[in-house]
Amino acid sequence: MIDLRSDTVTRPTSAMWEAMRAAPLGDDVLGDEPTVRELEAKVAALLGQDAALYVPSGTMANQLAIRTVCEGGDEILAHRESHIIHYETGSPAALSGCMISPLDGAGGVFDADAVRAAIRHRDQHAPLSRMLVVENTANRGGGTVWSVEQFAAVATAARIGGLHLHIDGARLMNACVALGVGPRDFTAHADSVSLCFSKGLGAPVGSALVGPHAFIARARRFRKMFGGAMRQSGLLAAAAIYALDHHVARLADDHKNARALAAAIAQIPGLSLEGPPEKIPTNMVFFRVAAALGNAQSFCDHLRETGVLALGLGPDRVRMVTHLDVSARDIESASVALATVATSCKGSH
Ligand SMILES: *Cc1c(COP(=O)(O)O)cnc(C)c1O
Repeated sequence: MIDLRSDTVTRPTSAMWEAMRAAPLGDDVLGDEPTVRELEAKVAALLGQDAALYVPSGTMANQLAIRTVCEGGDEILAHRESHIIHYETGSPAALSGCMISPLDGAGGVFDADAVRAAIRHRDQHAPLSRMLVVENTANRGGGTVWSVEQFAAVATAARIGGLHLHIDGARLMNACVALGVGPRDFTAHADSVSLCFSKGLGAPVGSALVGPHAFIARARRFRKMFGGAMRQSGLLAAAAIYALDHHVARLADDHKNARALAAAIAQIPGLSLEGPPEKIPTNMVFFRVAAALGNAQSFCDHLRETGVLALGLGPDRVRMVTHLDVSARDIESASVALATVATSCKGSH
């Protein structure tokens, strides 16, 4: 199978397994897990923040940031297509009693004016605008990368408006590799950051939440409350350390493979790529399936029969994501499969 549903599907490489096997272990809840501590120090330094907390998922990292900063009745500003709105099970409402004000903008990105317009006057009638979430890369936006300038302008608007700025950086390293900048070009302007090791970085499990000491100390209490405090989690943290050491620069290969896949899709009648293939920003490719070929789900079902997996998102939208476990040759095979399936679907509808 060539699995292009998500970059979360990667298996540990043998070198990563070796690093996991060799990791010294302790009990993180008792406070003496050496490998988790090493990972947390490493991530905090990488992102130029005081401290980090290793957590089981990116969702937990985001939700801990929200729970740590917000009170019931507060409002969070986030893009309409953001992960915290679409894919976190309503948890800002369920776990923290917060509502979300959706911001608009092309490709999952918004500007400083949108932030300023959404910040409410402090008035007893109004929810308190407390937090701004910036997703970089923007997943449903197309794997979009924020420009450093636009991000800085939005960060300034957030600071002036008294908002906590949280970066949902599940794929922040993809953004950095795509732009050729370091993470601090973004994180220096942020109050907290979440980063996934289980996406393009290729670790099997885990994310980090990063921020100031007092913020992380409070988040650590909520991690326990949410059931996310783990024991010999150094086993998993070792994979994340290995990923940070060995799998960042190679994200450029995933971006190149995504552009090659997009170029192939752009040539297939009945499939319409979102945007020009040379503008694919990172490792995600989105396209629409013409009605004459059926719908997104039936297209993905037929594609599966050829050994290629893609994700149907909505009635006609399909997502394919490149990662560590797909090669340039796999992309060629997937491109042939897409063309074959598109032709046979057209024949049968
Ligand atoms: C994947 C992802 C997350 C976290 O997802 P988990 O599956 O909970 O690890 C958060 N934000 C974005 C933008 C993501 O793509």
